[in-house]
Parts: sequence; C-alpha cells; structure tokens
Amino acid sequence: MTDTGNLISRNAVFARDRFRAGLRINPSGNLTVVGCVDPRVDPSHVLGLSLGEAAVIRNVGGRITPATLRTMGMLGKVGQAHQDSRVPGDWNLVILHHTDCGMTDLAAFPEMLAEYFEIAPVELDTKSVSDPFGSVRADVDVVKQDIPGGPGFLVSGLVYDVSSGLVETVVPATPLG
Ligand SMILES: [Zn+2]
Repeated sequence: MTDTGNLISRNAVFARDRFRAGLRINPSGNLTVVGCVDPRVDPSHVLGLSLGEAAVIRNVGGRITPATLRTMGMLGKVGQAHQDSRVPGDWNLVILHHTDCGMTDLAAFPEMLAEYFEIAPVELDTKSVSDPFGSVRADVDVVKQDIPGGPGFLVSGLVYDVSSGLVETVVPATPLG
C-alpha cells in the first residue's frame, strides 16, 4: 500500500521543485481529455501533459456518458466565468481509450452498463465495451451529436496500447459543426 505519509512527502518535493504559481483555471492548452480511471493510463503521464495544460475527466472506460456530458457542460460554465483567462483559439477535446480495459469485464453486467450509459440493455452493442477502437469511434459520434461545439471545437479519438506505451490515432482531430 502507498501510505498517505509517503504521499505527503512526495508533495513536499512537488511543491519545492515543480509547482508553478499563477496558473489559470482555464487550461493553457485549450484542451479537455476524457480518459479511463485505469492506473496505467493516466493522461498526464502517457500524453506528457503539463500542470494547468488540460482539464482531465476520468471515468470507467473514459466514456462519453450523459454524466460526462453534464460534467463538460459544467466546465464550460466555469470557463465562461473566467473568460479573461481563456487562451484565444480552437478547443481540443481528446477521447483516450485503451487496450485491456476493464470495461470488457463489465460486459458480464449489462444492467450496470446500461445504467452507466443511461440506455436500455438491448442498446449496449452500440457502445462497443469490449473494443477500444470501436468505443472511441462511438464516443466521438456521441460528442458530434450532443455537443453544440461550433467550428472552433475539435474532437479526436485515440487508443493507448498498454503493452507498448504508444497511442494510435483512431479518429483524427475533426471540427464540430
Ligand atoms: Zn480502462
């Protein structure tokens, strides 16, 4: 077990060596990443994100569920409240799925998954829970349907391979609207 005292010690090193004062609440990279909670796929590590660069939403599978859309809606309001710190230019939404995802194990629990996606169990096939390449395409499609992003809003779908450390672009960055 990683104990809390150990984490506090690591934080002291972070605060001394890597902390940067003056970061803004709006991501400096105009970037939102949606990824899985799996400890192997932390977007900050695998995509080399800097502190303050991206808003990262993590859930089981890195999925665009109704809850994810609600979270993004809330973040949009927060961003608007801090419009003065918004970096001009396009916004990039990156959906990051991965191989060997625990979502596959949840295929045995269709009722639980249906509740997660807020759909009927008979519709679960559309969510490709056992295939990260299919699931990332499906979630890009959900974003295209459900987010009024406009021309300055890009979405892309990536799959991270837990056996190689490499990311594959499945859906290249595409403007919404
Ligand atoms: Zn996963």
